[in-house]
Amino acid sequence: MWRASDVAAAPLWRLLAIAAWLLSAAAARAEPYGGPLFDAHLHYNVEAAASYPVEDVLARMQRAGVRAIIANSRPNDGTKSLAAEKTRAAAAGVTVVPFIRLYRNRADYTGWFADPTIKTMVDDELARGTANGPYRGIGEFHLYDAANANAPVARQLMALAQARQLAVLAHADDRAIDLLMAHAPRARLIWAHSGIGGTPPERVRALLVRHPTLMGELSYRPGLTEGDGRLSPQWRALLTEFPRRFLIGSDTWINERWSAYEDLMRGARLWLGDLPPAVADRIGWRNGAELFGLAEPVE
Ligand SMILES: [Zn+2]
Repeated sequence: MWRASDVAAAPLWRLLAIAAWLLSAAAARAEPYGGPLFDAHLHYNVEAAASYPVEDVLARMQRAGVRAIIANSRPNDGTKSLAAEKTRAAAAGVTVVPFIRLYRNRADYTGWFADPTIKTMVDDELARGTANGPYRGIGEFHLYDAANANAPVARQLMALAQARQLAVLAHADDRAIDLLMAHAPRARLIWAHSGIGGTPPERVRALLVRHPTLMGELSYRPGLTEGDGRLSPQWRALLTEFPRRFLIGSDTWINERWSAYEDLMRGARLWLGDLPPAVADRIGWRNGAELFGLAEPVE
């Protein structure tokens, strides 16, 4: 404990040493995370593929230090083309973890959960796999109305995911997360954006406690960072309490996100740098790598 009188009595060299320590502590906090990244929310949709060829997107990942991606696309051809480029991906140091997207076109966003042809498409894709091995997950799918989490195809896909050990990437609100987990309590559900409508952090916390296989992906999460791009105190507390339950993502849902890809990953590195290094390593890389059994990236 300090008292002002101690400071007044301290010799100048001591005050200088304290000032230097404070400066170095601030500098340490400001250091961005420098390790590998696992991008757990990446789309390579038909519009992206038209403007950004596979070698271009792989080069963007390489420059951003992204060493693995959850790939999903509307339609699934984009994911297949990424998975097919094994040699190029290996040269860029990127592991592609393919997911089956539920959307053949934009109309499927709002009707998939009650459309049996979507379930058939998922079954067919699953049976076929990709040039780089089997699909590892389903999604991203959207539930704009939580009640649709109880529609037949949503139930069937959650049960399928649990039975086949597929991860699920779901863009939904907190009520839908409870409903989805009720269908398949052991399914590995990744909550895209962890509450894009601003679900209070204490509610996110309660869901993590209630559902042990739930993880949160953090793109577009309101309140995660403050105006300067640094981690907010509430989120620093939540991420530090649950270091094994969060992932980062780019969410390249439109081409602007592809043109900004390296900036997006720089932004993630900045706030990850506000966490204890072991926590940043988990959220930036290790949680995703462990979820899919990936090897350590070779430098
Ligand atoms: Zn998305």
